[in-house]
Amino acid sequence: MEFKEKLKARALKEEISLSPKQLDQFELFYNMLIETNKSMNLTAITDEDEVIEKHFIDSLSCRRVMDMTKVKTCIDVGTGAGFPGIPLKIVYPEIQFVLVDSLNKRVGFLNEVKKALGLEGLEALHGRAEDLARDKSLRASFDLCVSRAVANLSVLSEYCIPFVRTNGYFVSYKGKKGLDEITNAQNCMNVLGCKIENVDEFHLEEDEAERLLIKIKKCKGTPKLYPRKAGTPTKNPL
Ligand code: SAM
Repeated sequence: MEFKEKLKARALKEEISLSPKQLDQFELFYNMLIETNKSMNLTAITDEDEVIEKHFIDSLSCRRVMDMTKVKTCIDVGTGAGFPGIPLKIVYPEIQFVLVDSLNKRVGFLNEVKKALGLEGLEALHGRAEDLARDKSLRASFDLCVSRAVANLSVLSEYCIPFVRTNGYFVSYKGKKGLDEITNAQNCMNVLGCKIENVDEFHLEEDEAERLLIKIKKCKGTPKLYPRKAGTPTKNPL
């Protein structure tokens, strides 16, 4: 089966109906990912079926815990080659997206993807989350923050929660060990004024590995002290 047919059928199983334009965008993104990956380290996953499942379908799993039709602004922290941000932007084009990564080469790739796919209302920013979260135009500005495979939950919450508006959400994409991270993140939740509202456990097709979506609600404004300066959250997690 050709790429677009496969993706269309797989997405339908998740009750996502992709238009011809969205299928073209996914195919172009896939081709750019594979081509650029020859000269730049973007992903270890390159097999067509695996990219569909572990990058595209996994990225869209956020909709299991969030009503995406109510989200107007979303930031993806540590987006790398654009996961989960680019698949979410393709499927929800009306959401304004900011993608953040500390590696400038990857941000360059994302700007090429943005141009080639004609994605409007998407900005790729180079910088560390700890620094960008102090920028007035970004702090407490987003309905939703998403992040996959960047840091443990305490560190990541310190990166992500400051970007979220009060009563907005942070959805952390995790594997099984996310459950231990939750146990260790209680102090962090208190300090940052947020709470874990839901933990969704699921499996992708033909993949044994358990996946978790941790949905965290920001209940009040983040104290000015956070995030601490770049590097401190990892050295000394809350
Ligand atoms: N989220 C993508 C995914 O799931 O495929 C990429 C995951 S990759 C393992 C982690 C990414 O986070 C890298 O691209 C790295 O440059 C970025 N990163 C790590 N620490 C960061 C920070 N403090 N601020 C911004 N980006 C960061």
